[in-house]
Amino acid sequence: GESLAVEVVYEGQPRAVPPGGFDGFIWARTEDGHPWITVSCELFGADLWWPTKDHLADEPDSMALHIRVPQPLFVAANGRLRGSFRDPDGWTEYDWFVSTPINTYGVSLNIAPYREITASYPSLDGDSVAVSFWVLPENLSQARRALPAFLDHVRHMEEIAGPYPFGADKYGIAETPYLGMEHQTIIAYGAGYRNDAMVGIDWGFDALHQHELAHEWFGNQVTPREWQDLWLNEGFAQYAQPLYAESRLGQEKARELLAIYRRFLANRQPVAPREVLTSVQAYTNDIYFKGALVLHSLRYLVGDNAFFEMLRRWTYPESPVSGERGSCRCRSVTTDELVALASEVAQRELDWFFEVYVRQAELPRLAVGRADSVLTLRWDVPAGLPFPMPVDVAIDGDVRRVELPGGHARIAVGRAAAIAIDPNGWVLRSEP
Ligand SMILES: [Zn+2]
Repeated sequence: GESLAVEVVYEGQPRAVPPGGFDGFIWARTEDGHPWITVSCELFGADLWWPTKDHLADEPDSMALHIRVPQPLFVAANGRLRGSFRDPDGWTEYDWFVSTPINTYGVSLNIAPYREITASYPSLDGDSVAVSFWVLPENLSQARRALPAFLDHVRHMEEIAGPYPFGADKYGIAETPYLGMEHQTIIAYGAGYRNDAMVGIDWGFDALHQHELAHEWFGNQVTPREWQDLWLNEGFAQYAQPLYAESRLGQEKARELLAIYRRFLANRQPVAPREVLTSVQAYTNDIYFKGALVLHSLRYLVGDNAFFEMLRRWTYPESPVSGERGSCRCRSVTTDELVALASEVAQRELDWFFEVYVRQAELPRLAVGRADSVLTLRWDVPAGLPFPMPVDVAIDGDVRRVELPGGHARIAVGRAAAIAIDPNGWVLRSEP
């Protein structure tokens, strides 16, 4: 029970991101030749550049960062800027303080001759949140035009997942020479104000910003305890884009995006394997796109009321206290805890759903047969697992939900009826 102060002295030249690789410092230059320095380290870990006990489940409860740079550079980092001190030799020290727990991989710094755009965001918890967007001088007007939409992304996330968790510090965005990363309170933004910067999809909005922002709730507020549960970050953050599209652009756009997601699936390893994985082993495309589609299928199964209650209680198990400065309720979680919460909210056991969709690599297949006036549906499931997943069937354009207790169903249809299975793309399954 004793507390101990430990001083660690270290120095060195931080690792640069290798060509075509991940993680480390990026030593870039702005258009007019000034240094533009950033760092990202989710996969290989924060110990790439600072000494730390580097484990997901053990976050520092707060953090101070003191960074010195020469004029005219500025340092944008996590938390709040407590002060800056100019030396006689022209260097300036920027002192940042993070007042909440923080993932070690979420600690970052961004150095450039940034210009700052500020705003005040009225949070749903009653506070106003200080917003800063640090941009390269050449992009100032584009960034000003983009900010109102970015703040609408924040509003939407608050609508589905509760108040912005880090209002006690700020909401920050910094332009980076790489695509993006969810550094807590200082999102790395490198989408170039394009709607198609993330995986080449025309999202209809700046999806890269909206995705990284979603991690403030799914990843920074709620963090997996172990890397094999990383889909709890990426699946949720990737489902936030279709949810935003549905809310702001309409259901058709959301369905279009989800149909594109289905084309990205590999199904080579489970989304949430039970064995312990390293960050690199856990990091697959499927934790993004399959993770999002699993959540979409869950929403179909339990209905909107239960699904959105689950989302809200996932980020805030208890209601955030209104008017309290900031709403941070940082905690670490597991897939099993999500299964328990989903089951509680839906008031039914949902182990079978997650067992098939996230614990198995292979997707279930829906076998459809039609003889005379009978339509038969049967789930073929890896390892013969139980899978009573309902599915919509359109009969002559009339959509009805067909329950498959025991994993199969027979329904009467007209001999000449036009049949479409799952016409709105709710249920994730192996498709030929
Ligand atoms: Zn992400």
